Amino acid sequence: MANVLVIGAGGVGRVVVHKLAQNKDTFDKITLASRRLESCKEYQDEIKQKYNVDIDIAKVDANNVDELVDLINKVKPDVVLNIALPYQDLTIMEACLRTNTNYLDTANYEHPDTAKFEYKEQWAYDKKYKDAGIMALLGSGFDPGVTNVFCAYLQKHYFDEIHYIDILDCNAGDHGYPFATNFNPEINLREVSSNGRYWENGKWIETKPMEIKMVWDYPQIGPRDSYLLYHEELESLVKHIKGLKRIRFFMTFSQSYLTHMKCLENVGMLGIEPVEHEGCKIVPIQFLKTLLPDPKTLGPRTKGKTNIGVVAKGIKDGKEVSYYIYNVCDHQEAYKETNSQAVSYTTGVPAMIGAKMMVEKKWFKPGVWNMEEFDPDPFMEELNKQGLPWHIQKM
Ligand code: NDP
Repeated sequence: MANVLVIGAGGVGRVVVHKLAQNKDTFDKITLASRRLESCKEYQDEIKQKYNVDIDIAKVDANNVDELVDLINKVKPDVVLNIALPYQDLTIMEACLRTNTNYLDTANYEHPDTAKFEYKEQWAYDKKYKDAGIMALLGSGFDPGVTNVFCAYLQKHYFDEIHYIDILDCNAGDHGYPFATNFNPEINLREVSSNGRYWENGKWIETKPMEIKMVWDYPQIGPRDSYLLYHEELESLVKHIKGLKRIRFFMTFSQSYLTHMKCLENVGMLGIEPVEHEGCKIVPIQFLKTLLPDPKTLGPRTKGKTNIGVVAKGIKDGKEVSYYIYNVCDHQEAYKETNSQAVSYTTGVPAMIGAKMMVEKKWFKPGVWNMEEFDPDPFMEELNKQGLPWHIQKM
């Protein structure tokens, strides 16, 4: 039986507490903490009503290590699930280190003032975590997260060597708004408007935003324009999948989404530097976040499916082989179960499964780890049980 502390009561945090409550045989004590207590209270009531499970709530500023340390000392969790924003990864990791507590997150550290994310600063905690005998599991969402586990599973069961990987992320959900993002708008728009990057023959190759496009026929959805982006799991997969020659990441965007984004970018609304406005300073992208629909409210309106998967090509028993492994998630089904659309659902379910792997000690070793470094089989089994069944096909 485990005691968990979840930090961040946003769209993904909501799914995480639903799934923890559904797995109360494993997680007998759940605390949800966030910057605003109201956000936690709403989910506390929802969980009580739906599952008759009591969760504790708390207010915390996750940018403040001392506040986090006090909270962790009070709750004494077996693991802290960081479901706040990537800006808080380092403060929460530091607080876990100071309190000898295991850590999990779903997105790698990003500095608020630079639209850039990388694992360097989190990997730098590896020795300290090892010395303390505690574990950090990085990127336990869908992508990163399940996509890393898909790669490890293919590597274990279907290939002697994987040479090419394409990660393919399609969200064919329609929320009926002219423009909205499915998760935190600031994080989403920073990611999408940055240069693309992929890895080939040992080198990173940079592309302009949306420069490389292909059409992929997504099972249960159909053909969609898919654009090459840089995505964080590429950084760890190039280290851990041996024999790799190329890895790329593609995400679908509609023409309307791209036109809106280009227009916002052209007028400076995606800027991350503060600008002077009538005597006060505002950060354009943060102001835009205030104007856009809150991703938490998209659930009831969003119809359609997501399909996220991995296509791998390589060698098995001397022959060239290729496999496609993917999950399809329905926005309305996700909403019925957890009051959240599929983008939050596909992130929150793997966060809970990652925590389950850690507390059941199926995945446990001191240090800082990425998902593909563990045996994929127990995680893959849980995906089928916990609402994210996967399919595999030979290409
Ligand atoms: P939201 O913006 O909906 O939620 C984040 C929550 O974090 C907010 O509700 C806010 O709570 C809380 N928060 C923000 N700052 C602080 C702080 N200083 N202290 C305490 N709480 C804080 O984002 P999402 O739920 O959509 O995303 C959550 C995480 O999941 C992000 O890191 C995102 O990058 C990641 N993600 C990962 C994916 C994957 O597949 N790996 C896919 C999608 C998202 P409050 O309401 O109390 O202010």
